[in-house]
Amino acid sequence: MLIISRYSRDFLNLFYPELCAACSRALNSGEKFICSACLWRLPKTNFHLQDDNPVIRKFWGKVSIESAASFAFFDKGERMQQILHSLKYAGNKELGIFLGELYGNQLKESPLFGKCEAIIPVPLHHKKIKSRGYNQSDLVAEGLSKAMGIPFYTDFIERPVATSTQTKKSRYARFENVENVFRLNGRKVREKHLLLVDDVITTGSTLESCARCTAEYGDVKMSIATIACVM
Ligand SMILES: [Zn+2]
Repeated sequence: MLIISRYSRDFLNLFYPELCAACSRALNSGEKFICSACLWRLPKTNFHLQDDNPVIRKFWGKVSIESAASFAFFDKGERMQQILHSLKYAGNKELGIFLGELYGNQLKESPLFGKCEAIIPVPLHHKKIKSRGYNQSDLVAEGLSKAMGIPFYTDFIERPVATSTQTKKSRYARFENVENVFRLNGRKVREKHLLLVDDVITTGSTLESCARCTAEYGDVKMSIATIACVM
């Protein structure tokens, strides 16, 4: 049965090849979502092994964060931009879980992240979920959870306020735009060291706002992980 299904998959691939999310070449059997050459060449940060790094510095003097890191640098026009685009707009949900697992396997080996107890994805406003069909941060959180062996809660924080796009705003305007758009939904979690997760970090204002909201939960420690970071 296994042999048959493998054959039929290869057969189907002749006509509808699965493509690498980074370079769009057909994947070989044994490759999933991203081809081996692209996986090897992704601009990884290794920030999960450095307690002082450019991602955690985005939060200095703003909100107390234990550790922060991103899997790879956002590279305009290159592989990470393609991957994030595929995750956000091409309905490639499995890719989000795959990326989360990929990063989770690194984070669980890191002394900085090994003590995180639960994962909280940054929520989207329900209108955006309706138009996109999913929250990409939930998928990354699901993959991280699988790899790290800790739970994830998609309903711990809510985003009742819709915001305009952040892309063309200045740093201050971005913070104003997302200030107070989150609220806790009153869900009880037992875990005290929470890992806040988003697909990408730019100025950090969305995650900062989310962290401020989470801090109201009480005696919590917070760390941050994203798939990509814009420097
Ligand atoms: Zn590729």
